[in-house]
Amino acid sequence: MLRRSGLSLGQYFLRRKNRAGFSWYFNKTKMSRLVQARRLEGMDKNVWVEFVKLAATYPTVNLGQGFPDFPPPDFVKEAFMKAVGGENIMLHQYTRAFGHPVLVTILARFFGKLLGQELDPLTNVLVTVGAYEALFCCFQALVDEGDEVIIIEPFFDCYEPMVKMAGGTPVFVQLRPKAAEAGKLMSSGDWQLDPAELASRFTERTKAIVLNSPNNPLGKVFTRGEMELIADLCVKHDVLCFSDEVYEWIVYDGKEHIRIASLPGMWDRTITIGSAGKTFSATGWKIGWSLGPDRLLKHLRTVHQNSVYHCPTAAQEAVAQAFQREFDNYGKPDSYFVQLAQELQQKRDWLVRSLVAGGMKPIVPEGTYFLMADFSEFKSEVPDLPDSDEPYDSRFIKWMIINKGLVSIPVSAFYSTPHKRNFDHFIRFCFAKEESTLKAAEDILQQWSLEKTGQ
Ligand code: PMP
Ligand code: GLN
Repeated sequence: MLRRSGLSLGQYFLRRKNRAGFSWYFNKTKMSRLVQARRLEGMDKNVWVEFVKLAATYPTVNLGQGFPDFPPPDFVKEAFMKAVGGENIMLHQYTRAFGHPVLVTILARFFGKLLGQELDPLTNVLVTVGAYEALFCCFQALVDEGDEVIIIEPFFDCYEPMVKMAGGTPVFVQLRPKAAEAGKLMSSGDWQLDPAELASRFTERTKAIVLNSPNNPLGKVFTRGEMELIADLCVKHDVLCFSDEVYEWIVYDGKEHIRIASLPGMWDRTITIGSAGKTFSATGWKIGWSLGPDRLLKHLRTVHQNSVYHCPTAAQEAVAQAFQREFDNYGKPDSYFVQLAQELQQKRDWLVRSLVAGGMKPIVPEGTYFLMADFSEFKSEVPDLPDSDEPYDSRFIKWMIINKGLVSIPVSAFYSTPHKRNFDHFIRFCFAKEESTLKAAEDILQQWSLEKTGQ
């Protein structure tokens, strides 16, 4: 870059210095008032930005951010290649703003069946840039200043800032761990809501509750009983439910994924959110959707049309073809959804074994491709700094990245500020990884354990 611009090192630094001088001048003259909107205050930090960068900076085995390091299935890749390279040149142009017609049609057919509800592709389905945009539209469209939104901890981190950006107030309720059965590892199912505590969070200001089953980062799959408890409270207090179901196909040990919108009284008050990234192991495609009654979705469409407006056409076409294939194979051994869960269950078990052998205490997840592990036994490695602003798990992982070459995500990132410290002895691992990656992680843990025990 220096050579291209023909500058000597001295000239380069001189220019930078001069530029710095100008910016100082402008800062001084123009920046006396607050630059950023007030609603952004306290939201500049982001765990993904920070840890994705660290994972890229050091040579590591990356079990951090949630994405498969194996390819999507062939039929999915082929559908994309056909969309981009095929005869229909219109797939390179804009399509319908609220969802490409073939995609909304198949989503309506597919999920209509699962929800026991006739879905109109034009009014009950909205295609978004990943589940992220679907969530953002929910909060922007349906949460107002002064509204309260109930969030179940631990929670996918973006719910809290999104509620706040909409002017709402997050109200937290925790999944509480009970002791595991004797001689067994703890399961994500051992983490439960206290019904009385949950009920106490519903007030006349409650506008919505966010439900995420299977849950990221814990991997909990809410039971029908737990769903019914939440549904009854929503109906009783006339509260909306934003149901983030991006891991709907990734459920283990014969557990059942329940869709809360299918419970009595819930269709009319629920937005169900999904992600092609999670569904077809293609997180970079960023195609998501919301399903719900028109009375709610029409407001999400208003946010969408005035912000993102439109999602990539070719990717939507490919996701539509992939769903059509899954529709035809539903529940059959050939179904990718069936195969994905089977393969991931083996990977889960592998990582659980590696962590136990290495001295950590994993919580066995019932769903998702994440697990939380208690690393208390490793605390002697990194000194505690009780006065530090940074939670212990975050500092521990930074140490682990640099010294052991292993990446994970601090669980404190999935808790509200007052509760972070209580859970900073957990870290989250992603196991949607090739065998070679899981083996490399196993080797690191094994070597580490040998060093710790002085063997
Ligand atoms: N919800 C949860 C629970 C997630 O883990 C993620 C991460 N992908 C999202 C929503 C966002 O999904 P997408 O990549 O489709 O935007
Ligand atoms: N959902 C993924 C995870 O939990 C990715 C999140 C992100 O990159 N923002 O790891």
